[in-house]
Amino acid sequence: MIHRVHGACPHDCPDTCGLITEVENDRAVRLYADPDNPVTKGWLCAKVRPYLDHVYHRDRLLHPLRRVGAKGGGQWRQISWTEALTEIADRWRSVIADYGASAILPYSYSGTIGLVQAGVSAARFWNRLGASQLQRSICGAAAELAVESTLGARWSPPVAELEQTNLVILWGHNPVSTAPHFMPALRRAQKRGCQLVVIDPLRTRSAQGANHYLAPLPGSDGWLAMGLAHLLEKLGLHNESWLENHAVGWLALRERLVPFTPERVARKTGLTERRLSDWPDFMRSANRASSRLPTASIGQKMAARTSVPYAPYRRSPPNTAHPAAAWPIARVATWSGIAKLFSIPVIARRLREPST
Ligand code: SF4
Repeated sequence: MIHRVHGACPHDCPDTCGLITEVENDRAVRLYADPDNPVTKGWLCAKVRPYLDHVYHRDRLLHPLRRVGAKGGGQWRQISWTEALTEIADRWRSVIADYGASAILPYSYSGTIGLVQAGVSAARFWNRLGASQLQRSICGAAAELAVESTLGARWSPPVAELEQTNLVILWGHNPVSTAPHFMPALRRAQKRGCQLVVIDPLRTRSAQGANHYLAPLPGSDGWLAMGLAHLLEKLGLHNESWLENHAVGWLALRERLVPFTPERVARKTGLTERRLSDWPDFMRSANRASSRLPTASIGQKMAARTSVPYAPYRRSPPNTAHPAAAWPIARVATWSGIAKLFSIPVIARRLREPST
């Protein structure tokens, strides 16, 4: 008899699709999208659609292999799980005996291991072992802290909010490839007039469908953020009283923005001053903006998005006890033009003073 198992896609992907797997005699015989999931809407990406082919593929590695020849020689011997685990444990015991447990540095990220393995059981194991501590992602921690301390949490904006958004900014984010279920709603929004701005050094497939595309030089988008903030502040397209009352570090940021003139930012980013000057026009014409910025997010298996789709608000109060609170971070920059908004969590430490 076939029974259906409802689950979620294990990939570290913001769409977090609902899956249904049909199982017969302990074997998955069919896998498809949950038609009732409001984001998945009954279709899966090309990566996951043939999942059962991967699971049951004859080349799939099902047991441990021990290298027996020279490295790169491709010679392997099948061993049991007990042998493999014993060998690993023996080696670790020897490392711990010689150098202490902190000589072991666990380094992994999310992939397809899911929340329990990634965020709970692995941490308990390494803590118990006394291994070195590592913020598991070595690349996203600073961005994660910036987003959390800006917005209170790294929550994804509901896709349905696109219906009411008239400016979407994809900043270093390529949802055509990495969050495909966002795209139909985005294209619908564009058809009814929503402007799409893509900021990415690479002309991605998402950039190809943009109304406005900015390609700053790689590594220069911190300059771009500060330069755009400079322009918005200079033209008064921000909500001064809201920032004074709700943002942490606004006055310091305002001073910090002064030297980020369009001329200097253009030099650093490789963009023309004209392209930068277009920015206030986007903001003037948008009263319901949404921005998506990817950062690693082990906790929520998603590329983090920040979104401030309506009037200035937070989902939770700023966490002033958070370590990031001590950083020279422009933690909230939520601007109000004719209406609102745009969120720029900027790590300004590196941008303290622009060099010429
Ligand atoms: S779009 Fe993302 S969540 Fe959906 S099936 Fe593909 S990888 Fe999984």
